[in-house]
Parts: sequence; structure tokens; C-alpha cells
Amino acid sequence: MLTDRLTALRGQAREWGADFRTVALELDRDPDRVMDFLDLPGVRCMSTLGIPPEFGASPLTVGRHTFAEVTALERVIVLEGLARGDVGMTLAAPGPSMSGVLLEQLGDQGQRELFYRRLLEAPTWTCFALTEPDRGSDAGALATALREEGGRRMLSGAKRYVGNAVRAQYATVFARTRPGPLGVTAVLVDTGAAGYSAEPLDTLGLRGAQLGAITLDRVVVEPDRVLGRHLSPTRRGIWACLQVFNQLRPGVAALALGIAESAHEYLSEHRESDRGADRERIEVLGWKIDATRDLVYRAAAAVDATGDGHLASAAKARACALAEEVTLTACELLGPAARLTHPLLDKLVRDARGVEFMEGTRNIQYLNLFQGLLAGRVGARAQARLR
Ligand SMILES: Cc1cc2nc3c(=O)[nH]c(=O)nc-3n(C[C@H](O)[C@H](O)[C@H](O)COP(=O)(O)OP(=O)(O)OC[C@H]3O[C@@H](n4cnc5c(N)ncnc54)[C@H](O)[C@@H]3O)c2cc1C
Repeated sequence: MLTDRLTALRGQAREWGADFRTVALELDRDPDRVMDFLDLPGVRCMSTLGIPPEFGASPLTVGRHTFAEVTALERVIVLEGLARGDVGMTLAAPGPSMSGVLLEQLGDQGQRELFYRRLLEAPTWTCFALTEPDRGSDAGALATALREEGGRRMLSGAKRYVGNAVRAQYATVFARTRPGPLGVTAVLVDTGAAGYSAEPLDTLGLRGAQLGAITLDRVVVEPDRVLGRHLSPTRRGIWACLQVFNQLRPGVAALALGIAESAHEYLSEHRESDRGADRERIEVLGWKIDATRDLVYRAAAAVDATGDGHLASAAKARACALAEEVTLTACELLGPAARLTHPLLDKLVRDARGVEFMEGTRNIQYLNLFQGLLAGRVGARAQARLR
């Protein structure tokens, strides 16, 4: 059961999502059209979502309710509502996004100030550059190097599949200063810096996110752009990256859930046959969506309560499986040419495949979940400890 406050937030996010639906196919055809949609209220919400109030961001307000510091559960509710309209538009919006959560983990006051002030001045895109060609799931094997050359730190390497890489004004980039798990550091890069270049990748799904390939050719990194330099090496780099994933994983689950809801709604509106068996399948999908929403919300609440992201792995895996099941069932029930005659459904099928890879595939989520079970951080042992 949601509180009145969260119910109001959900209603508002769904309304904003309905606007996204009207532009979903245009953005899918041409991701550069995002510039025409910056005034949509949902885009404006995303452009400042997560900026701490101390930097002067106006709090998100819905009726008489104010949401100053956004919790994981509130973020999930917003993302679900927006993605129900269009997940592509949700990901295309400017804003602090993953980089903001990383700055909250690692940034000192000066770095946070620089980053957030700019985001508040004008719509500013950011990107979070971790994945490298041939090093996706195994993020710890990253090889982008941050080296001292002639008394300056230089960043060199390649990143791939990075959302908003071409649009971004700021990139948070993970690089290696030495071998081993403690040799990874994150830096804040101005994408206008010499040696930074990004190219869009042609993708089938989530085209609004405009994934990109980044080349870093001896980009100078000033000392004040090294994130976490005031923290111990164990608290920087990969550890911080895992914290960001823990915080945001329920949100990725919410995006997949939004796709499932969207396809379910579309199917309910467009089905032609009224066969009892089909009606029953659609109804069962609705129950699965409700159950998955419950899991996603519980996972977000667990992140808020303890910071633990293991239940969120279950939620992400479940929501991605459901997004595929609902979109493919919709194709089956709408007839053999469904993907040709229903372009929006075709897009939802492609988007459901895309979200599977974001922030770790299902296999990786299962590994994380089972590690959590073995460690007693999720499941009956964890619940007993909370009681
Ligand atoms: C829409 C989208 C947005 C993205 N946004 C970003 C972003 O903003 N920033 C960023 O840095 N990256 C981003 N990525 C990249 C994403 O994080 C990677 O695609 C993901 O980590 C998987 O890596 P990979 O594609 O190299 O696949 P691989 O790691 O090569 O995996 C291929 C297959 O092998 C399986 N596999 C791999 N390792 C194991 C294992 N240990 N056990 C069992 N199975 C395994 C996987 O499950 C998968 O099925 C994005 C990707 C997508 C699709």
C-alpha cells in the first residue's frame, strides 16, 4: 500500500508519461529530436531529479506534497510512470542521472558544486562511462588508463554502449591507475576537453538513450577532477560503482516494469479477439505486473533502509523477464503481422531487449542475488535479522 504522498507522485508521473507516449515513435526514429521535447514536464523533472536542495534546486512538488531529497522508492515511482509512457524519452532526458549518484558517493563539495550548478543553469546531459569494448559484465577488467605524463594526468582508452555519450556535457569515466581492484578511479570529464570524442551507435532498442562509443586520447585530467581523492582507495573506484548500481538498480527494474505495463495496456486496448483463453492470459499478465511492481517497490525500500541491492537484483531480473513476456505475448495475440501493423508494440519489443543489458544482464543479477542469499543479506535470514 502506498501512502497518499506516493500515490500522488505515481499519478503525476503517469500523467507526464502519457505526454512521452505521444512523441515516443518520433524520438525512436530520430534521437536528435530530443531537443524539441525539452519542455515536456517529465523531461524537466528528470533534468533536476536527485540534485540536493543545498544547491538551490526547486524541490519536486505534486499538489501539497514536496519531495526534496529523492529516495530510491520515489525515484522508482517516477521512472515507472515515465517509462510506462516511453522508456526512450525517459532515458533521453538531460539530468544528473547515474553520474549524480556517483558524485554523491565520491564528490567533494567543490566537485558537487561545479556539477550541480551547471545542471541548474541549463539542460545538461551527463553520462556514466564504465563499459568498454569486450569488457561489459566484467567491469573490474577495465583497461582505460589514467597515467602521469610530463607532470599531468592523462586519460586514454575507449568506452562503449554509454547512454547519452554524444549529448553529454559531463562524463564520469572509470579508469585504471594501476593493476588490481583498488587501482580503479573515477574522474569527472568535461566532454569539450581536447581528446574526448563520442560517436552514436546504431541500436535496435532504447534508441532514445542514444548509446555511444567514446574515445579518450590523452585527455588532461586536473587533480580537482579526480573523484574520491579525499577517500581511502577501498572507497573509490569499483566499490563506489557498485554503490551506484545498488542505488539505481531498482530504477532500472522500474523502467522494465514500465515497458511491461505499456505493452499490457496496449494489448488490452487493441486486441480484436474476445476469446476467453486470450482474456485469461491478459488478466494473468496483469497479475504478474502487480506482483512484480510489489517486488520492485520492496527492493527500492530495502535500498532506502539498508543500502543493500540484492533484492533489487531479483527485481531487475524479474521485471526484464516480464517485459519480454508481455511484449511477446502481445505480438502473439495481435496476430502474425503485429510488429508491422503496430509500430509502438514493435518498439516496446525492442526496448524490452535493450533494458535487459542495462546495469547487468539477468545472469549477472542472478549471480548477485545468490551471493546475497549465501551471505544472508536477502531472503529469510535477512528478514529474521530485521525483525
Ligand atoms: C540500453 C543500454 C544502456 C547502457 N548504458 C550504459 C551506460 O550508460 N554506461 C555504461 O558504462 N554501460 C552502459 N551499457 C552497457 C551495459 O552495462 C553492458 O551492455 C552490460 O554490462 C553487458 O556487457 P556486454 O554487452 O559487454 O555483454 P557481455 O558481458 O559480453 O555478456 C554477454 C553475455 O554473457 C553473459 N555473461 C557474461 N558474464 C557472465 C558470467 N560471469 N556468468 C554468466 N553469464 C555471463 C551475459 O549475461 C550475456 O548474456 C548500456 C547497455 C545498454 C543495452
